[in-house]
Amino acid sequence: MAFTKKTVRDIDVAGKRVLMRVDFNVPLKDGVVTDDTRVRAAIPTIKYLKEQGAGIILMSHLGRPKGDGPEPELSLRPAAEKLAELTGYDVRFVDDTYGEKAEKAVSEVKPGDILVLENVRFLKAEKKNDPEVAKKLASYGDVFVLDAFGTAHRAQGSVVGPAAYIPAVAGFLLEKEVDTLTSIFADPARPFVAIVGGSKVSSKIGVLDHLIDSADTLIIGGGMAYTFFLAKGYAVGTSLKEEDWVERAAEMLKKAEDKGVKILLPVDNVVADHFGEDAEGEVVDSDKIPDDRMGMDIGPKTCALYVEAIKGAKTVFWNGPMGVFEMDQFAKGTEAVARAVADSDCTSIIGGGDSVAAINKFDLADKMSWISTGGGASMELVEGKALPGVEALLDA
Ligand code: ADP
Ligand code: MG
Repeated sequence: MAFTKKTVRDIDVAGKRVLMRVDFNVPLKDGVVTDDTRVRAAIPTIKYLKEQGAGIILMSHLGRPKGDGPEPELSLRPAAEKLAELTGYDVRFVDDTYGEKAEKAVSEVKPGDILVLENVRFLKAEKKNDPEVAKKLASYGDVFVLDAFGTAHRAQGSVVGPAAYIPAVAGFLLEKEVDTLTSIFADPARPFVAIVGGSKVSSKIGVLDHLIDSADTLIIGGGMAYTFFLAKGYAVGTSLKEEDWVERAAEMLKKAEDKGVKILLPVDNVVADHFGEDAEGEVVDSDKIPDDRMGMDIGPKTCALYVEAIKGAKTVFWNGPMGVFEMDQFAKGTEAVARAVADSDCTSIIGGGDSVAAINKFDLADKMSWISTGGGASMELVEGKALPGVEALLDA
């Protein structure tokens, strides 16, 4: 186990009030939750606490409120209703977080009850981890449970604050996410194949750097491949490129070589004359990208090469699409890789908002071992950073 903190299993919560930070930052349309993944993800811990006889007080942020008071379109009420619908539990909601109304609602919470507080970010001080906010929230519970993996990388009042005043432990989602995303660096089943794509080298440099420390093979695709091409001396036409990062890309190639990590770069590419829905693709080898063409996807030879590498893997970590998968004519590379990961007899771990969207687009989510619910938080773990929310919890 790569998780070194206490969890809800390690403390007695019977008859206690448990203050739990969840990630109910769900997308809403006209007051209705359009994707309930995050609410579902919190249910195992909520269910466990309820069965243990705890009274549960849930809090979360939703969206980006200004922090000057209530904004009805960013209320957590729809998320509370979704939780009730998904669990069949009686879920109460109070349209207050730090005031007397919230305090009264909390004081009425009995064992087995579930209360959802209003959006913690309706108050600016929350984001700064103001001690008054932390103290106030901590006063609501005997125990604090952090299960909001998606915000565990933020040192904010509702994430790290209560841990300074009451015993603080992890929920099951947080434990599983951290354990899964750190185990691949501790003791992965080999061969470990890491796949990194997406738009930019600059946003993934920490991820690439840390993966090279652990992976056997590193597959590179997406827009970032063209900065690597520049590092290898290829012309890239009008492809996405980051001139300032060519040197760092070259360093990564060198580091991989020194460590004996195999790096796979595209050998052919689907290129287009402009970036758009109506753009048509043509396949060219990587050393023959015309001056007036941009790379939009990996080509068929590259797909075959990558699929072969993935087939033999025992562990796969994937972050970042292989091409502009939002446009169907440039989605083939991402789809081929996604199918190969799904079909491979390996532990497959997926992180990153767009990567998850791509896997959902191809309807392959249930074929993956683990799909991270946190974008930024999962990237920080894969960069080898500690998450402040996790750090604040009691050591196991
Ligand atoms: P994630 O959210 O999974 O971490 P990123 O945000 O890094 O992934 O990158 C996803 C974006 O990269 C997608 O919007 C995709 O269209 C874009 N992308 C992939 N390949 C290319 C390319 N060749 N040129 C431009 N953009 C690309
Ligand atoms: Mg993204």
